[in-house]
Amino acid sequence: MQYEGSVYRPPSEAGSLIIQATIGCSHNGCTFCPMYWDKKFKMRSFEEIYRDLQEARRENPRVDRIFLADGDALCVATDKLLPILGALSAIFPECSRVGIYGRAENILRKTDKELRELRQAGLGIIYLGAESGSAEVLKRVNKGETPEDMITAVHRAENAGIHVSVTFISGLGGRELLEEHAVQTGKMIGEMGASFVGLMTLMIAPGSSLSADIQSGKFEPLNMQEVMKELELILQNANCEKNCVIRSNHASNRLVLKGTLPTDKQRLLNQVQSAMKDEKMLRPDKFRGF
Ligand code: SF4
Repeated sequence: MQYEGSVYRPPSEAGSLIIQATIGCSHNGCTFCPMYWDKKFKMRSFEEIYRDLQEARRENPRVDRIFLADGDALCVATDKLLPILGALSAIFPECSRVGIYGRAENILRKTDKELRELRQAGLGIIYLGAESGSAEVLKRVNKGETPEDMITAVHRAENAGIHVSVTFISGLGGRELLEEHAVQTGKMIGEMGASFVGLMTLMIAPGSSLSADIQSGKFEPLNMQEVMKELELILQNANCEKNCVIRSNHASNRLVLKGTLPTDKQRLLNQVQSAMKDEKMLRPDKFRGF
């Protein structure tokens, strides 16, 4: 299989067959994100994707999960995505789940009927980068979406039977917006009703506009203790009614957490509070990555 440029996938798709349905990210404008700088966004044709699927079939006797990349492959129109999902289930009948990266706007552009059709065609999970529950933080990082967009999008996908895994980035508000970012993120986790939440920790990409903001003093990154304080505030404000699996198992994280809200909230808070007292529990910077 030949991939175009660097290919990214969520940690939970480590064992999945990755197929590029699109190249790059249709937004490609978030100030902190270097993932698709080197790519000009485009959709791949059904024929190109189909050739990849046939080649992957020859190379892989068994494929349990498939992940559709790149950055927001869910921007593909439903009438083009359905044939791709149809080909996936015809060529890989043993595949139990198809996952995809998507932005809230990708979901909001689809009708409820389209979302149900995508679910029936095998789309099992959407990975959505919300990054923050704070409208101000989202504006500053040029996310191009609002907290309300994200909450509505997650509700609609989950109601259609598609699980949503939402990621947030600890430290994204910097020192100035630490509390605002943490409290609003916790509240959004409680309100949006996503099946899964992933917490990442901000990494500064050299050459990014965020990196320039640090050099000019406009953005002050958090230290280890502040990241832990923020994590504590996020968890304290996350009042979930529906079960939500929460993890911080990304390479960028200093502390690995895994549990289900609301049941494990206190256990997770205890873990964070212990780590605040004992930095040896935290992953050193040199072992963190994108
Ligand atoms: S964070 Fe997501 S939406 Fe923003 S540029 Fe990166 S891939 Fe695109």
